[in-house]
Amino acid sequence: MANYNGPVCRLCRREGTKLFLKGERCYSDKCSVAKRTFPPGQHGQRRRGKVSDYGLQLREKQKARRIYGVMEKQFRRYFKAANRAKGVTGERLLQILELRLDNVVYRLGFADSRNQARQLVNHGHFSINGQKVDIPSYSVKENDEIAVRENSRSGAYFKNLSEVLGDRRIPAWLTLDAANLAGRVVRLPEREEIDIPVQEHHIVEMYSR
Ligand code: SF4
Repeated sequence: MANYNGPVCRLCRREGTKLFLKGERCYSDKCSVAKRTFPPGQHGQRRRGKVSDYGLQLREKQKARRIYGVMEKQFRRYFKAANRAKGVTGERLLQILELRLDNVVYRLGFADSRNQARQLVNHGHFSINGQKVDIPSYSVKENDEIAVRENSRSGAYFKNLSEVLGDRRIPAWLTLDAANLAGRVVRLPEREEIDIPVQEHHIVEMYSR
């Protein structure tokens, strides 16, 4: 199944919260969630009854999938991997999602959104430990160095980016060398460092049914 290519603000309105899918616009007053607080579609403004446990679990799963731009089948694979791993399954699941290359490119500030990061990775602009990697779902590891490739640095996008990159806030599990357009995974992210509006225990409950 192909990735979702429709209007992304609709996804935020469906979840009733900001999923930050559009970069700068998400921080401006143009954000659709702030303007229209009801779900999209013909029946969006209808009064809703009580949400079932399953409904709640489903919404949390959909939120996580949409934030990271992951399709159902792949998301299920991530859950299975998290379930097999040591530790708390829900936390491990979020950790696996955070370590996707497109997410790390976004977290390092090389892109305004995960969508844009995915495109940049697809176009072959990044290397890991000196080797070109153009797979957005590639899972980075501790101590990996993620860098903009030499050939891509002279392009207008990365030239402009290097001027503003130093001002961006990045999570403590990553380090950034803005001058050299490179970053490193210094350790694995802790749950409290993953700032997404998802209650992962509902996802675990859903898959454990
Ligand atoms: Fe979601 Fe961003 Fe669109 Fe707001 S602007 S609805 S946060 S994608």
